[in-house]
Amino acid sequence: MDRRNFLKNTAASMGALAGLTTGGTKGEPTPMIESPIKDIVVPPDGYHAPDWLRYSRTVYFDGYTPPIYPHIDEFDAERLVRIVRELGGDTLRLQPIGFWATFPTKSGYPLHPELGNRDLLWETVQACRKAGLHIYCYTKYNNPFLSMRYVDAHPEYNDWILHGPDGKPSITFEHEGYGVIPLCDATGDAYRRAIHQVIRDYTTYDIDGAYFDSPSGFGYTGICYCPTCRRKFKAYCGMDMSRLQNPDDMQARIAWYQWFNEMEYQDLLDFRKILHDSGKFMICHNGATWRPQSLREQYRIPDGFMNGENQVQVYNRIMTAMMGASMARPTKKLSQMYMGDYCLSSPGTPPHDHPWTLENTSEEDTDEVLMDGFGTLAAGSIPMYATLNRLYFGLGDGSNRPAQEVYEVMRRVEPILKDSVVVPYVAVVPSWEALQVWRTKRESWNVNMCEGFTLAMLDEHISLDVCPSTEVNESWLEGQRVIALCGASGLTDYTAKLLTDWVQGGGGLLATYDTGLYDQNGHVRPSGALKEVLGIEFTGEALPTQPECYYRITETHPALGRYQAGSMVKADSRLLPVHAFGGAKVLAECWDLGTKEVRGPAIVVNTYGKGRTVYISGSLEANYTYNRVPSHRRVLASAVRYLAQEAPQPFEISAPKGVYGLLRRAPNGDLMLWLLANVGFKDADIGRMRQEYMPVSKIEARVLIPDGKRVRTVHLVRAGREVPFTIESGYAVARLSDVHVAEIAHIELSS
Ligand SMILES: [Zn+2]
Repeated sequence: MDRRNFLKNTAASMGALAGLTTGGTKGEPTPMIESPIKDIVVPPDGYHAPDWLRYSRTVYFDGYTPPIYPHIDEFDAERLVRIVRELGGDTLRLQPIGFWATFPTKSGYPLHPELGNRDLLWETVQACRKAGLHIYCYTKYNNPFLSMRYVDAHPEYNDWILHGPDGKPSITFEHEGYGVIPLCDATGDAYRRAIHQVIRDYTTYDIDGAYFDSPSGFGYTGICYCPTCRRKFKAYCGMDMSRLQNPDDMQARIAWYQWFNEMEYQDLLDFRKILHDSGKFMICHNGATWRPQSLREQYRIPDGFMNGENQVQVYNRIMTAMMGASMARPTKKLSQMYMGDYCLSSPGTPPHDHPWTLENTSEEDTDEVLMDGFGTLAAGSIPMYATLNRLYFGLGDGSNRPAQEVYEVMRRVEPILKDSVVVPYVAVVPSWEALQVWRTKRESWNVNMCEGFTLAMLDEHISLDVCPSTEVNESWLEGQRVIALCGASGLTDYTAKLLTDWVQGGGGLLATYDTGLYDQNGHVRPSGALKEVLGIEFTGEALPTQPECYYRITETHPALGRYQAGSMVKADSRLLPVHAFGGAKVLAECWDLGTKEVRGPAIVVNTYGKGRTVYISGSLEANYTYNRVPSHRRVLASAVRYLAQEAPQPFEISAPKGVYGLLRRAPNGDLMLWLLANVGFKDADIGRMRQEYMPVSKIEARVLIPDGKRVRTVHLVRAGREVPFTIESGYAVARLSDVHVAEIAHIELSS
């Protein structure tokens, strides 16, 4: 598409969108429903979460499996507490709300058929308090649980479940024994009322807080067409709900999500008030926070959150844990991740897990739990052991040693780890606005590309941080040297202005693929949000894939490291058409090896004020996740070093590629180099597997000593011993003879 057509089509698409809007003055269309880009309002209420919470060693007891389901006769609170203590935990997350409630509740939530006069919540609270443990309670929030058999026998629950346009219940999955499970009606009234009452019931117990699973979990719910929801939706936006049956009716879809989010926002504030008024904290599942239709910044409402589940790959866990830590840090919240995730079925395996089953009791913990725990801590989040059920029956070898060790190390390093921060060379910024291109039926690959970039930097041993666009502000930018926007499709004017000023003052910006091509509502910005600073102008949207594309280097330049004019490196087979202008220089062009077509500029460098920028018109980082071609990560790494104006790296390690380094600065100024030896069996496609990590010997670690500081000792935390070190060119250099799974080098500094 040539530029004139691109502009014409852009104008046409904006016109089409204007046609979707109502109201307005002086003939100007006013968008009726646009992405809310204002910060979420969380009214201060004087409540402060306890200081221990953001460093808690929580053990999760699941409520869908034995000894809760199907029978409760073997439930013994003293035994639960004994296991938490043996693990070295200090907090129990209990699930009194699952398929059934296991405590007497006024909410109408169906009681466990065997409950009788028992109250498992009360029993557990007594046992925890006697043992000096903290306890908080899980509750479902829009998360399905009723059995259709039960609803058929108790028609009063018909209002709790989601009905399709044909008036029939929408079924989510089938559980062997329990039967088919319908979705919850999250936008009706009956179910929401019940969960409010569950929380009020919780506050009558001596517990510390409550946990919600899971806000914006649209995988758990959907559009309900019951008479109540039809009436409420019509009252909200004037639209007939039947419009939602047309998947192309984006105006109705956008309105529905906004309606849902406003209700959820109100619910979360209500829950928070009920809990805080009784001195209890609130934690939410955060897994759905960074998804296109979610309530923006919902993570700011609770006092802490649990980030995504099933982080099978270590780089993936690191990115999630770092992003969670960046969300939690400004207001000192808890950012938590599972250690020893659930075992769930994986695609392409024999049907041992179909219909849906959980396997909370069958796991036997190995090195994976160590890597989960240490990886989470290295990235600034807190591990939570999942699940206690697997130790309850002492099955297999009932191993608890890996989790025990993680919690034991966590206790020892608390003074230097709690409230520590990353020392980054480069920070990757996932963009909330990139996700919003769904509003114009587009797709953004920003999250995937950020993951690929994270992996490339870990493999290159470059110190990295991850900070979501919602937490980017002037004070955060002050501490950054290089920022990477990886296919950050959407950017607001505000973020673009912040970044432009920051580059002008000396920052280094790497932007790839469609970064800044769209606004926060998914509309094309004809020139892109960062035109001046990057020195490029988009002339269209992404071109289709072509096979065998390479970047042909046209000019030797430090941004390209070892690759000189005339060499070719593997390209992304997709490309954004751009032209460079002003002082910007094209260093490489995209070349189709078969057709010999030059597809357009591939790598463009620019200087802007005191800063530097590099733009890459494809996504080497997304390719790297799957093909691990070395030139991808080398080009990205050399661009980062160039953008940092060749500043010394905070650390360097000489070790095989799978060894990841993460550097943290303690509140007292000491440095901690975390080494994760992620080497051994790897298979990305199979899901949760048993992984054996191989010991790595002879790692040389070099940590840059901050100005005016001296190194007193280098102490290996896990090995429990000091190692000799030398000082070379401002770095403390130490050799580690053997690292299995993880080690932490604590560099103790003095003035
Ligand atoms: Zn409904």
